[in-house]
Amino acid sequence: MSTPFIVFWFRRDLRLDDNTGLWHALRQGLPVIPVFIFDREILDQLPPNDARIDFIHRQITHLQEKLISLGSSLLVVHGSPLSVWATWASELHLKAVYTNHDYEPYAQDRDKQIASLLASRGISFHTYKDQVIFEKQEVLSQNGTPYTVFTPYSRKWKEGLNPDSLLLHDTASGFQHFWKSSPHPVPSLGEMNFRPSTIPFPQSTPDLSVIREYDKTRDFPAIRGTSRLGIHLRFGTISIRSLVYTAWKYNPTYLNELIWREFYMQILWNFPHVAEGPFKRAYEAIPWRDDPEALERWKMGTTGYPLVDAGMRELNATGYMHNRVRMVTASFLSKHLLINWQHGEAYFAEKLLDFELASNNGGWQWAAGCGTDAAPYFRIFNPEAQMKKFDPQGKYVRKWVPEFGTPSYPRPIVEHTYARQRCLDAYKHALTDN
Ligand code: FAD
Repeated sequence: MSTPFIVFWFRRDLRLDDNTGLWHALRQGLPVIPVFIFDREILDQLPPNDARIDFIHRQITHLQEKLISLGSSLLVVHGSPLSVWATWASELHLKAVYTNHDYEPYAQDRDKQIASLLASRGISFHTYKDQVIFEKQEVLSQNGTPYTVFTPYSRKWKEGLNPDSLLLHDTASGFQHFWKSSPHPVPSLGEMNFRPSTIPFPQSTPDLSVIREYDKTRDFPAIRGTSRLGIHLRFGTISIRSLVYTAWKYNPTYLNELIWREFYMQILWNFPHVAEGPFKRAYEAIPWRDDPEALERWKMGTTGYPLVDAGMRELNATGYMHNRVRMVTASFLSKHLLINWQHGEAYFAEKLLDFELASNNGGWQWAAGCGTDAAPYFRIFNPEAQMKKFDPQGKYVRKWVPEFGTPSYPRPIVEHTYARQRCLDAYKHALTDN
């Protein structure tokens, strides 16, 4: 009988360095076949110009080049994971499959099915924590329950962190265990019905000067005051352990933001109903307005509120929106326009390069006031005051809304004081009557 193989399956961890599951796979003493599946269950739902697929494709091509230089090759297919694995399980002599945890509901179902398919063929399935420092129920309150408020969660998270022991897995020491193979082709974007993107993608190297100054610069959308690493954390082109180490060393405010990311991930894990509706069920009673025209004006950035419009236009043009402006635009849709936040959540999911279910959902529920650790519903952002404070010279606004201040700029879609009161009344009635 020939020597069996181990497979390492890349998913949200598209890097060779400091990759937990890969490190374990390379230590088994058997040849390791690295694989990636362009998942049709996901891709078939996306439009051909989805820039994230181009981003992934570039990372896969880059991984392929590195693996070829090591005398190996990445096996890349475009298909449905369950049928791909059924084929591999019968065609390749496999002993075990290694991969990293993926916490989103779709991924959990997929992994359960694949683990049982593999088990039925006598192949073991091993998964590891890699994209977070603490996962699932590793940070619990004294009573053993998940935290639903950020500050005590973050305190406990920091107590548990031992920065010196943040394990940076030396994967390179095992590279000789990659299977020796001639190069395999990577399917082109066109073959999968996608187009290359014209959006420039941010760098994956954290700029130390941005992280050092982060607490002073992060709230001003006109300057490059945040790290733009969201997309790299999303697809694992940067290791969270090395980034947390940098954050811990240079800026506690930046570290806090990385903890928000894990806070929302554990919320989604422990309270999966948030993916479908409000964390606080009472908020299901809010009488959202059905106003497709207003929703469209919000999406296109023509509400007549300059900061909101600038944010939406930045999102449409680049797949990115500054955090401060995400808060303002999300609040505006759910409170000023009184449109169900889930429409906004879905639109962001479609457009954001750094889209991540847990953080996007958490951000939207926070803005709409129905989430775990939400701003109380009666605190309503005033978009004009936000602009005065965070874009005082209107630099950001003028970049994205050049007609601002001219007669061609639309009048406000709704008057602020009126909209504020309408929202307060609607929320109050819904929450006291139910
Ligand atoms: P930086 O400010 O440099 O922060 C570094 C990293 O910390 C981010 O990349 C991110 O991983 C994490 N982080 C920062 N702020 C938050 C936060 N409030 N919540 C969770 N993680 C945070 N973040 C996403 O990664 N994906 C989303 O889909 C997403 N949707 C959002 C929707 C709304 C309505 C709101 C209010 C926020 C959302 N965020 C989301 C959080 C935040 O806006 C982005 O993480 C941040 O703007 C990304 O830019 P950056 O990489 O320059 O962040």
